[in-house]
Amino acid sequence: MKTTGILRVSLILFSMVLPTTAHGNDTETLSMGVARLDITPNQPVRLAGYGSRKEMSTGIHDRLYVRVVAFEQGMKRLVLVSTDNLGFYSGTFPYMLDAIKAEFGIAPEEILLSAIHTHSAPTLTLDAEKVHPNNVRYTEFLRGRIIEGIRTAMSDLQPVQVGVGRGSGAAGVNRREERPNGTIVLGRNPSGPHDREVLVMSFQDPGGGRSRGLLYNYATHATSLGGANLQISGDLIGIASDLLESWQQGTTVAAAFVGASGDIDPWYRVLPGFKTENGWIPETELLGRLLAVEVAHVLERIDSYGSGATLDSMSKTLLLPGKKRGTRVVEDGEEIPPVPLRLSAARIGEIGILGIDAEVLTEVGLAIKQGSPFAHTFIVTHCNGAQGYLPPQHLYKEGGYEIETSPFAPGAGEIAVKEALGLLYELAGSQSQQ
Ligand SMILES: [Zn+2]
Repeated sequence: MKTTGILRVSLILFSMVLPTTAHGNDTETLSMGVARLDITPNQPVRLAGYGSRKEMSTGIHDRLYVRVVAFEQGMKRLVLVSTDNLGFYSGTFPYMLDAIKAEFGIAPEEILLSAIHTHSAPTLTLDAEKVHPNNVRYTEFLRGRIIEGIRTAMSDLQPVQVGVGRGSGAAGVNRREERPNGTIVLGRNPSGPHDREVLVMSFQDPGGGRSRGLLYNYATHATSLGGANLQISGDLIGIASDLLESWQQGTTVAAAFVGASGDIDPWYRVLPGFKTENGWIPETELLGRLLAVEVAHVLERIDSYGSGATLDSMSKTLLLPGKKRGTRVVEDGEEIPPVPLRLSAARIGEIGILGIDAEVLTEVGLAIKQGSPFAHTFIVTHCNGAQGYLPPQHLYKEGGYEIETSPFAPGAGEIAVKEALGLLYELAGSQSQQ
């Protein structure tokens, strides 16, 4: 747990003496291409994330985007996609992935298709009866935009240098609040664990100067807006990315990746909308600005960029012990089929990236960061699928929303940590210390 509020920035020099792994060759040029496409729906849609919300959207507060960052080094490719959406639930991940594979011949370990988990974006679905025909049309539209974004990014590959820095963000807070009777409810628990790291990867043209784009990683749900809100919005994360891009006069892409935030909500949460009366600053905008300002501070302090960062990636699907939703434990004799969990690991020089298709709780993400062989580790949740909450074992006895609704049995989180570290160590070219 990182409790310091002091901005700390560490710099990595990507030198030519990095060890060459069996998977990559650090002597080749790292190239990068970016794209940002508008994915705001042009018709009313059902909004995702709150089961109780049945009404259609009534307007647009801020526009939604898909941001694509593509890398290439020799024969290696890696495509990172940040989508202003809740996540690829209800079979929509394979629907997207199949189209991406067919179009680009991309291997499963070469793509991290993630969502920022805003609860004010269209529900993705292939089932018009369960949701709404407009949502099915939107899902088809989004698939086309993602393909177009990847094509644009991959056709714009140019050599880049990499810099990295870290800060500390205050937009999120642990949400597992204990009531006097001992029950855990969704609320605010400032003394609960939270990974406050704001991790920023920045890319620029060789020789310095023009920024080519940035990726940032912070752990919070994008739920400052609640189920009463009917306006389309990227919530605080989408607003932060928009601000970062506007500050760069739109010349660069700021792609957000949401960290282990299964039990983290924005400090102001589930509000009914954007209140502006009498000069009030809407909380969602305030929190988005707070996050964007911290990313900008981290960026300003990155004063060293290096070439020759090794690009590599791998993926693995685990079969983890499952449990019935609505329970905390697996009863004796109960036979529950295993639950797949997809891990997507990558490295860009001394930065590790670990994508997980789940809502990962703080301590599971921190265990991966703390055990990682890389100097910096991005934890990318809602990535390459959507499997529900992945809690640490010790929280099962406390219960609460994330535990009750999790499809995973106690202990699954710890297996995921061990397997994730195995992948990261393999990418780092060293033996796992686990
Ligand atoms: Zn969630």
